[in-house]
Amino acid sequence: MSLRFTALSNLTAHSEVSVPGPAKITGIFNSNVFTLKVAREYLSDEAYKSLLGSIKAGQKIDRAVANQIANGIRAWAESKGVTHFTHWFQPLTGTTAEKHDSFFTLKGDGTPIETFDGDALIQQEPDASSFPSGGLRVTFEARGYTAWDPSSPAFIMEISHGKTLCIPTIFVSYTGESLDYKAPLLKALEAVNKAAVEVCNYFDKNVTRVTPTLGWEQEYFLVDEAMFNARPDLVMCGRTVFGHTSAKNQQLEDHYFGSIPERFYNYMRDFEQESYKLGIPLRTRHNEVAPAQFECAPIFEEVNLAVDHNTLLMDIMARVASRHKLRVLLHEKPFAGINGSGKHNNWSMATDTGVNLLAPGKTPKTNLMFLTFFVNTIKAVHDYADVLRAAIASAPNDHRLGANEAPPAIISVFIGQYLSKVLNDVKERVSKKMDETDESMLKIDIHKSIPELLMDNTDRNRTSPFAFTGNKFEFRAVGSSANCANPMTILNTIMAETLKQFKKDVDSLIEKGEKKEIAIMHVIREYIVASERILFEGDGYSADWEKEAEKRGLANVKTTPLALDAMVTEKAKKLFESNKIYSHSELEARHEIELEKYIKKVQIESRIMGELATSHILPPAIRYQNTLANNIKGLKEAGVKETGYSNQKQILEKISEHINKVSDLVEKMIEARKICNEMTNTRTKAIAYQSQVKDVFFDEIRYHADKLELLVDDKEWYLPKYREMLFLR
Ligand code: ADP
Ligand code: MG
Repeated sequence: MSLRFTALSNLTAHSEVSVPGPAKITGIFNSNVFTLKVAREYLSDEAYKSLLGSIKAGQKIDRAVANQIANGIRAWAESKGVTHFTHWFQPLTGTTAEKHDSFFTLKGDGTPIETFDGDALIQQEPDASSFPSGGLRVTFEARGYTAWDPSSPAFIMEISHGKTLCIPTIFVSYTGESLDYKAPLLKALEAVNKAAVEVCNYFDKNVTRVTPTLGWEQEYFLVDEAMFNARPDLVMCGRTVFGHTSAKNQQLEDHYFGSIPERFYNYMRDFEQESYKLGIPLRTRHNEVAPAQFECAPIFEEVNLAVDHNTLLMDIMARVASRHKLRVLLHEKPFAGINGSGKHNNWSMATDTGVNLLAPGKTPKTNLMFLTFFVNTIKAVHDYADVLRAAIASAPNDHRLGANEAPPAIISVFIGQYLSKVLNDVKERVSKKMDETDESMLKIDIHKSIPELLMDNTDRNRTSPFAFTGNKFEFRAVGSSANCANPMTILNTIMAETLKQFKKDVDSLIEKGEKKEIAIMHVIREYIVASERILFEGDGYSADWEKEAEKRGLANVKTTPLALDAMVTEKAKKLFESNKIYSHSELEARHEIELEKYIKKVQIESRIMGELATSHILPPAIRYQNTLANNIKGLKEAGVKETGYSNQKQILEKISEHINKVSDLVEKMIEARKICNEMTNTRTKAIAYQSQVKDVFFDEIRYHADKLELLVDDKEWYLPKYREMLFLR
């Protein structure tokens, strides 16, 4: 029996995994996290103070104190039955990495002891040679090291491999280049903090810290594990490269409004509980548009923590799924013909005085501050739309962006009708010779339209890649499998850059004798005029928008290899270098890594396509072709007239045609791959893989293979079909 039928017959035999629920979420929340509250219990005053200073103000922790902190963390971890620790980091491979060591060691005289000292807490050398470094490691240094990031608390991971103390770290080379996603993110957060505080101080001198916030929404698919195992394409590349759409898919929209199926519901409760223990503040779960598609979202947090929590969650989701004999698909486009998955990044900035800088204020003055940050965000997205596009570029996300189900590859900003009106008012009424009465009138008028703005919240435009949703911007083009750190690094960097420029522009008007608030109004006006072409309120999925965007001169880069170019332009180098996020060589390295990732992904998909076509699609098709041929031959021999078997003949002809096409195209695709593989320039090779392999062959081969799926005897077909993967549970 083929794996497909074994999977199908096992489906109904599944015993349910019971998930005992906690009495209350608060009872388990953070129970596996070394929170400040726990730190207070386990650390001396001196050690606690030092840890706090490091978290709140980035102060250095000295060696002796580090030893104390390490001891405290170990004592806490041991009280929970932990024997091993690991530095936990986020390399550019897109997953998380760990290297476990035990607390156990032998003293000089052979006495066994458990120890964890400051050195082990602060720094570790994993063997970095097999992590991508885009040539950096060759040029600079053979090894990288992980360094403790005190701003993200240590935690205990207790799934499937015992209990491990995880120390969140950044991953850098000995010469200081970032080798991971977190190091540049922390730099970007610092840059935006500095720039935003200066701008805040125009309005409120008490602000000393600005912290960007992030609330992600994670979409995913669930499939039965046995069915997953019977699909080598899912196993190898996380998406199906073949499969005819089922008769029914998402057109009735019944899944979105339906109740969550029992088996999946148990799974969700299970991974949610694991998440709560790790302090991931999950809040919502619901079905998504496509069958077997779901979403979960937390309460927003500081960007740094939110990023760690999202990567942790993706890890937990995969681990918990196997307990339920399920597989979670985080790929952006696991199934053709139905919606793919994204990860909306809801983003804002909060001050240490408790103000959300993207929430309209209560007084005319705070509203001017809101307007300042709001318009600066639009200006940032306008000026650096290409870099923002590059931040979300990946092989899997290419299937989604612009596929009429997700935001297009054109970066635009949606702000809603009331704020559009506010911006228009500012544009029209701020004039060169504005006096204080004009200024306060305008401020009051802006203030008056705010209550209407709050009502406007419900009127959301789901087709925009970057939308204002009442008190935050929502970056919707991020892919479901992406590490949010990358888009967050870029977004916060362009924000820092824009705010710095804003400060310069305002100050120069003030120096010329303009009153502060009038100067601010003038610069705001100038920014609105300079960036209004990026504003779009209409249907982002429509063909009209593509035309209109082109007229406006907005870029529409549909493929990853070209989108990535924006990371290495002179403009980008200046941006990242002046904000101390990436050096030239780091940018080049990242560009190279992303291109290589792209090439490898397309290469793997192409290989699995060829392999499956030859070993899974053609054999049953050829067998059925034989059956038909024999049938026709038999009928002919028995003296049946041609009209008696003309239908069989027609089917046979169709099958033969598709078989020939598949087989022929696979051969040609292999040839095309060979040509690409000869190429030495990474960018040229990536473009060739996209335009000469993916674009030329993938859809075409799939078309014929999927036709065969419909024609061939069902009991002969090896690969689980869409209706089985998506509807049976
Ligand atoms: P939806 O977009 O699905 O309608 P919500 O608007 O309620 O859902 O929120 C989506 C996400 O936005 C949640 O994770 C929420 O915590 C987050 N969010 C809300 N306010 C902020 C903020 N100030 N900064 C960042 N994220 C936020
Ligand atoms: Mg949303």
